[in-house]
Amino acid sequence: MSTPPETPATPPPEQPPTTPLKLPVVAIVGRPNVGKSTLFNRIVGGHNAIVEDQPGVTRDRRYGDADWAGKAFRVVDTGGIDIEAAKASSNTIAQAIVRQAMRAVEEADVVLLVLDAKEGMTPADHQAAEVLRRSGKPVLWVGNKVDGARHEAAAAAELYALGADEVHFVSATHGRGVGDLLDATLVRLTQAVDEVPDLPEPEAERPIRIALVGRPNAGKSSLINRLVGDERVIVDPTPGTTRDPVDTPFTYDDERYVLIDTAGIRKRARVELAMEKIAVAMAEKAMGRADVAILVIDAEAGVSEQEAKIAGLCDAAGCGLVIAFNKRDLVDAETERKLRRDLDRQLQFVPWAKVAYCSAKTGKGVRALLQTAREVYESAGHRVTTGALNRFFEGLVERHPPSVYRGHPIKLYYITQTGTHPPTFVLSVNYPEGVHFSYRRYLANQLRTEFGFEGTPVRIICRRRGGNKS
Ligand code: GDP
Ligand code: GDP
Repeated sequence: MSTPPETPATPPPEQPPTTPLKLPVVAIVGRPNVGKSTLFNRIVGGHNAIVEDQPGVTRDRRYGDADWAGKAFRVVDTGGIDIEAAKASSNTIAQAIVRQAMRAVEEADVVLLVLDAKEGMTPADHQAAEVLRRSGKPVLWVGNKVDGARHEAAAAAELYALGADEVHFVSATHGRGVGDLLDATLVRLTQAVDEVPDLPEPEAERPIRIALVGRPNAGKSSLINRLVGDERVIVDPTPGTTRDPVDTPFTYDDERYVLIDTAGIRKRARVELAMEKIAVAMAEKAMGRADVAILVIDAEAGVSEQEAKIAGLCDAAGCGLVIAFNKRDLVDAETERKLRRDLDRQLQFVPWAKVAYCSAKTGKGVRALLQTAREVYESAGHRVTTGALNRFFEGLVERHPPSVYRGHPIKLYYITQTGTHPPTFVLSVNYPEGVHFSYRRYLANQLRTEFGFEGTPVRIICRRRGGNKS
């Protein structure tokens, strides 16, 4: 169980003003000059940090709130050791560090023990490590000042010989390795406390941006007219100063939307081939600004190469996708069967896309189309807790482990969700280049099914543990 941050043995400092109570706490511990403040600044960044002066005991203690992968936690820099005071009271630096470590253990859920990897371990480090080990608190060892790869090997050998089970090498000044350290910290926090709170939602809710894309004559303008003509749709009359002239903001059922229209171009292009090409280019541009694309297809004409191209671009743009077969009023049962075959053959690379049928002419299915686009948007904004993610992930990897890469078994350490719209996951792995595309796709599909990501691409980024992205 965690020790609530409100009840440390030492008097608690004032809470930073904008912070909700009960954030889990990560304490940074270590000798003077190993780089604790630098690491603290790197993690807390521009966020509010408060400084608590405790003359004679420590130089200062700093509290700041960090956010990482959509989660919020508090970081405590346990402060420098006041060397002069320690000497004056005939205490050794080692004793002072031990006290600092004990205090960190009392108030923190996870402790980061910072070491100077260039200098190696000193007796004071050993004592602090021993205190932390005995406490049973989760401790991550941080080998700092690894500004280049060559420092790392020597430092690693020494630290692992001392019984560290997990060392993260970072350069607090350059930021190298800090992302991985934070990923690992979140995993440990999730194990230590029931729930690491999500970051608060942004104040002003954005409207959902929907791009209507597709070939000329599919029925995009008709669909827009049908939508904005609906008596329950309130079109925002304010002239666009910041928005594109083709964007139509409106409200439906208290939900705000912006329609990004690509239909206008048809009127300008005369040659059919040029029109088709321009439609694809317009679609790409619109999808770059949209949360969800509705790919409008003339159901009577069926799926063509253009639509496959647009669907591929949608995946690349990271935008949700609804495939809308329009002109349903013209379609019989036989044509519907053909459309299903078209989906399997020509759009098989976006099996996750939602499919809808509608008729701009009769109005049938048009409101439902909007509803589907909203569901896709919400699904793409879903966040999975790191704990739930890793519980699922372990079973998954056990059932279907990745193949061997150049004679090395591929080790998948853990996974974190780092973003939404589209849902994005970072996978920590020993050989990122060895994780085959098909394995990534397998993981993405499993995540999609388990956590209900519908109608949206799912991204998986493989990152070498302690190294760069791939
Ligand atoms: P603290 O006393 O543990 O809080 O250490 P500081 O953060 O004040 O850092 C002590 C010194 O080490 C400063 O001169 C920093 O610039 C330096 N330092 C911190 N991190 C790094 C790093 O990653 N690489 C190098 N080369 N120097 C660092
Ligand atoms: P856009 O180029 O994609 O904007 O397509 P338009 O909205 O201009 O539609 C092209 C043609 O298809 C027009 O003649 C429309 O009247 C017709 N159309 C659009 N939607 C439907 C529909 O649901 N059913 C039928 N029968 N015709 C439609």
